[in-house]
Amino acid sequence: MAFDPWGANKITDYEHAFTEFGLSKFDNSKFPIDHYLFRRNLVIAHRDFAKVYDRIKSKKTFLQLTGIASSGDLHFGHKVDIDFFKTFKGLGAKGYFCVCDLDAYTSRPDKKIPTLSVAKEYAVKNVAHLIAFGFTEKEIYVQSRKGNRYYAFVFEISKKITSNMFEAVYGHKDLGKVSAVLLQLADIMHVQLPEYFGKNPSVTGIGLDQDPHAKITRDVAKKLPYDIETPSFVYFLHQSGLKEGSKMSSSEPATAIFLGDAPDAVKKKINRTFTGGRESLEEQKEKGGNPDVCKVYEFFKFHHPDDQYLLNLSKKCRAGKILCGECKGNCFKFINEFLSGHQKKYKDALPAAKKIVYG
Ligand code: SF4
Repeated sequence: MAFDPWGANKITDYEHAFTEFGLSKFDNSKFPIDHYLFRRNLVIAHRDFAKVYDRIKSKKTFLQLTGIASSGDLHFGHKVDIDFFKTFKGLGAKGYFCVCDLDAYTSRPDKKIPTLSVAKEYAVKNVAHLIAFGFTEKEIYVQSRKGNRYYAFVFEISKKITSNMFEAVYGHKDLGKVSAVLLQLADIMHVQLPEYFGKNPSVTGIGLDQDPHAKITRDVAKKLPYDIETPSFVYFLHQSGLKEGSKMSSSEPATAIFLGDAPDAVKKKINRTFTGGRESLEEQKEKGGNPDVCKVYEFFKFHHPDDQYLLNLSKKCRAGKILCGECKGNCFKFINEFLSGHQKKYKDALPAAKKIVYG
């Protein structure tokens, strides 16, 4: 099995990933971080997180860099990346959230992102969402508008990756993807240059399918003519799509609830969501449902901040004390309450977002 950072497949064989790729399991008792994303075991693995955790514990500086390719509209799967960034910020991290417009254009097929200006149009929307989530403008950058020092660093990185090394990690040498990877490495490591925050442990939260980027970043960090810490990574689970077996993806709108969806669209999607309910109401009352496979329950697990709510729902579902219709109604209400406030802030943030993207 090889990970494909650009693929749409959902990774399910986690044990295989640990043994074959040498990731360390994330042990909550070793790194007790009091946040629901950690408490609910949504962080499953890491590379070299101990040195970041030491900084968290001792309240000393550490850095973070996270990003999203501006190749589509943001959905609740992206919100998880955003929530991780906010969590590390709350724990004291300094750093940036990168909106990767160049990466989106160079690494995606033309039918998805035909021109850089399309990637920039998505970037405006993505940045406005980040501002609506409470990010300051200083915490966000767009690749195409980053300064000279960053671009000099991209070229310095290019000298430390051979074509054989690239092919061994990714299985191809597509030049668009090569340039996207160089940019990503610069994103993750430039925060440690003296012109930015200087040498410090850094963490980047990614999905398991992004591990090739982590591996190559850590290799290159050791070869650069700079005294920097080898970047650390935590791996979190992706929220899956609303349909059975799917990954939440902007290429398949029916699998995702977008941050810009209107209430009617949310209602329709939630009503069609795959659940762990039984064939009939009678059977469900008698035997209970199965939250372990239910996408409505998964939605609450990734986004509802109250552990008690989740625990009660799980108990009531298994005991047949709540039926899927009522549960879907609660989920719809929960999402819409969030989206109505968020979408107002998003609209207000658009002028500032345009300025960040176009100057
Ligand atoms: S009651 Fe709720 S949690 Fe249980 S299977 Fe139905 S939708 Fe899922």
